[in-house]
Amino acid sequence: MTLVIPPYVFHKKKVYKNGRVSFICGGCQRLDDLRYAWAEKSQQDGKETFKLKSWPEEHSCCPTSNAHLVREFRAALYAEVHANPTKPVPSIYDQVLDMFTKVMSAEDKLAFINEAPSAR
Ligand SMILES: [Zn+2]
Repeated sequence: MTLVIPPYVFHKKKVYKNGRVSFICGGCQRLDDLRYAWAEKSQQDGKETFKLKSWPEEHSCCPTSNAHLVREFRAALYAEVHANPTKPVPSIYDQVLDMFTKVMSAEDKLAFINEAPSAR
C-alpha cells in the first residue's frame, strides 16, 4: 500500500497495535534517510480507512512533480497491455498517454513526456 503526498510517495511500513500506521518516503529511503508519515487506521462500515496525522515537511529526496504521475502512468500502461494482449503496444501507449496528458498544460505535458517511460 502506498500513500501519495505529491510529489512524494510513501510506502506502508508498520501497523501498530494502537492503530497508528507508519509510512516511509521511498525517495528518502533510497538516500538512506528515513522520513515518516503517520496515519491512524479505523474501521468504517467494515472498511479500513486511514486518516493522515502527520507527514514530513522536509525531505532529502527531491522527486519531480511528475514522479507520482509517472508511476500511475506506468501502472495504467501495464494494465492496458494486459487487457488487450493483441493490440500493438505503441498504439496502447499513445492512447494511455493521451488520457494522462489531455488535462495538462502544454508545459506540463512536455515535462511529463520527458519523464514517462517510452513506448519502445
Ligand atoms: Zn522524501
